[in-house]
Amino acid sequence: MDSAPLIDPFARPISYLRVSVTDRCDFRCTYCMAEHMQFLPKKELLSLEELDRLCSAFIGLGVKKLRITGGEPLVRRDIITFFRSVSRHLDSGQLEELTLTSNGSQLARFAPELAAIGIRRINVSLDTLDPAKFAAITRWGRLDQVLEGLKAAKAAGLQVKINTVALKGFNEDELFDLVRWCGEEGFDLTFIEVMPMGEMGEEERLDQYWPLSQLRARLAERFTLVDLAHRTGGPARYVSVGGTGQKIGFITPLSHNFCESCNRVRITCTGELYMCLGQEDRADLRAPLRASAQDADLVQAIREAISRKPKGHDFDYSRQKVEGQMPRHMSHTGG
Ligand code: SAM
Repeated sequence: MDSAPLIDPFARPISYLRVSVTDRCDFRCTYCMAEHMQFLPKKELLSLEELDRLCSAFIGLGVKKLRITGGEPLVRRDIITFFRSVSRHLDSGQLEELTLTSNGSQLARFAPELAAIGIRRINVSLDTLDPAKFAAITRWGRLDQVLEGLKAAKAAGLQVKINTVALKGFNEDELFDLVRWCGEEGFDLTFIEVMPMGEMGEEERLDQYWPLSQLRARLAERFTLVDLAHRTGGPARYVSVGGTGQKIGFITPLSHNFCESCNRVRITCTGELYMCLGQEDRADLRAPLRASAQDADLVQAIREAISRKPKGHDFDYSRQKVEGQMPRHMSHTGG
């Protein structure tokens, strides 16, 4: 089979794949999900075997970094079987990194096994260190459970990056506490600019928008921030916090200043391939997966889709923000 690496029409190699393995989550973060979500029927979802085939096909075509996300990936039944199976590509050296983005609720249970499988780093989403605020923003979550999970991750030797959605009037007052806590714990920290989705009133939404430019300016009042050249091909920029070696990232998901180096694509839990974070064009990979046990049609569908990867995206973010139009797939920025 044709295994030439995937290169898009703008000469960008596709080396990073993010895969959502479920639409379900045990939290209901207000900016992300409605409290009473209608989840997809099981038959719509890719099975663990189909997910494995799909990831393996991309790895065969040059993907070096695979990030598993959701929903909450660790609530999918038997997900460890999937991780264990995909880790064969780490053993073979074809895959350089297998990682996941999680809300941390199940890490106390799974961290040792994830580490044993060969996962080195994980992203854990955490917006506040205050138990009452945590319960309010996640609706169903408990902070102590996540802190236990983080402890287990640390004990298992996993490197942790905390992802924090910047929310005006919610975690503004915790900015320095979060930085200090991550420093003490040895966690990297990345702030994510909130995108206009999820179930909240429009007024609340506008109230909560806290541009990362402002957040960064506030940090700079206290710390010397040194820009790091390190880029991942994604929408994150990193700084080091003067003297401490601590790294802080900023993800502005809808900015398009990273398109020229974009190396990534994403797949939803129903097998739709999105070639760009900021555009709606997508390709159905579930049909070719299910139509044949051989991968030839699947690979052809992947190549055809990559040949449509756009040069970049250019959002009128303020308009989208006001109209609250952002499509759901864009929420999965855990990056
Ligand atoms: N359940 C996992 C988790 O909590 O990280 C993975 C999926 S979650 C959708 C991935 C990331 O997207 C989380 O860091 C979450 O905070 C972020 N996210 C969700 N909705 C968002 C929004 N409206 N704006 C910005 N980030 C959002």
